[in-house]
Amino acid sequence: MPQEDEIIDLRSDTLTQPTREMKEAMMMASLGDDVFGEDPTVRQLEGKLAGIFGMEAGMFCPSGTMTNQIAIRLHTRPQTEVICHKNSHIYLYEGGGIMSNSHASVKLLEGDLGKLDAEAIRQAINPDDDHAPETALVSLENTMNKGGGSVYQLEEVRPIRQLCKETGLKLHLDGARIFNALIHSGERAHDWGRMFDTISICLSKGLGCPVGSVLLGSQAGIRQARKIRKALGGGMRQAGMLAAAGIYALDHHVSRLEEDHERARAIAAIMGKLPHVKATLPVSTNIVIARLDKISPESFLEKLAEKQIKAVKFGPDQIRMVTHLDIEDRHLEALEERLANWKMTL
Ligand SMILES: *Cc1c(COP(=O)(O)O)cnc(C)c1O
Repeated sequence: MPQEDEIIDLRSDTLTQPTREMKEAMMMASLGDDVFGEDPTVRQLEGKLAGIFGMEAGMFCPSGTMTNQIAIRLHTRPQTEVICHKNSHIYLYEGGGIMSNSHASVKLLEGDLGKLDAEAIRQAINPDDDHAPETALVSLENTMNKGGGSVYQLEEVRPIRQLCKETGLKLHLDGARIFNALIHSGERAHDWGRMFDTISICLSKGLGCPVGSVLLGSQAGIRQARKIRKALGGGMRQAGMLAAAGIYALDHHVSRLEEDHERARAIAAIMGKLPHVKATLPVSTNIVIARLDKISPESFLEKLAEKQIKAVKFGPDQIRMVTHLDIEDRHLEALEERLANWKMTL
């Protein structure tokens, strides 16, 4: 049982601490200068992930924002346009980087649980005339953070791939939590690798690494991406210490994601019964979004904080909770106990 005052921190799966075994793997890593392409551990991580997805090459970066932004820069030119969901991470949470890094425009689409379909994308492609920015790229997100960790089925992506092929658009996947998606759907990474020009994958979320994301793509694409990374200041030297954590996580922290998904479902069940919670979004993976009624997220979060429970505001009437490596059954039991018979007084 967590102590009475132990904080149950459900704000994000980026909060995970590296395990002792992961730190040992980091200590033992063989190192070189990765800007010279000579860090054997970085190369091993890049090759391993590319192999898992059946893609040609990979590039290690400090963050998922950087892998996404490099992909966008790779696939666009100034004055072209990116199509994405209005709630996508690349648009909402990357500091306006599409504009400042790539000088590109954005077309935002609607779609249930943060997902796009081929027909909506087809309608959003600009005609070839002087007024409109040329559509260059479609970007999907799987799992979809603001969709409550929702998951695309491969069959939903196939027509989008087909459309992009017909119309000459590039297709990028923000796969920050792609392993959560694959664990949920049971689909094969190779089948996903075939669908996209580039895939960005975070190691620092549910996989439990302290730092790191990898961009996957073609040999030629990744070669160009390395030049963009250099210009953004993302070339790292003995980065093998960080890459070793990624290799460890791929070997040990993927199949356990199912536990995070089960605990997220349990949390949604607990949250769903609380006063002022109108509904929770359907839980597929490790994210729980609760929609509030007659209370602000700020006030609701304050009430939770009094019980030593942390979550984050996620829109004008929503809060988010995320499960991860460091949330165990004892935390769930404590959560349930602390919120039992909760009479919230405003
Ligand atoms: C976390 C996240 C990223 C990348 O974030 P960084 O903090 O820059 O690593 C990208 N997309 C989604 C959907 C995310 O959740």
